[in-house]
Amino acid sequence: MAGDTKPLPRVTADSRPYWEGCAAGELRYQRCAACGHVQFPLRPFCTRCRASGPAVERSAGRGTVHSHTVVFRAPTPAFKGDVPYIIALVDFDEGFRLMANLRDCPPESVAIGQRVGVVFEPLADGGALPQVRPQE
Ligand SMILES: [Zn+2]
Repeated sequence: MAGDTKPLPRVTADSRPYWEGCAAGELRYQRCAACGHVQFPLRPFCTRCRASGPAVERSAGRGTVHSHTVVFRAPTPAFKGDVPYIIALVDFDEGFRLMANLRDCPPESVAIGQRVGVVFEPLADGGALPQVRPQE
């Protein structure tokens, strides 16, 4: 039945290096060699100066909660065992923002400005999904 399993990421030619990084335990983003612009998600060109092929770099995986919400009602049956869970917008130290689940954190204790670190959760297709957990 639809919704009984969690959806898997749709990998495209542009996002493939990102998902390969996740499977290898690396959080990847891009930095333009021409202008220094940091961007995420991966694209074939720099969104500031239009230079092609921004370099793919590895994040140290540490950041700060920019904002968050708590999900109390599962969007599909596959998420029933997860509620309540936290979705956070995380500003990584290199200068890019990523949305992820905030694991190992009670919903009542999440705070804007909280430090977090990336963890990778295995997916059914052999890949991995980046999530974050509280970290000093
Ligand atoms: Zn650029």
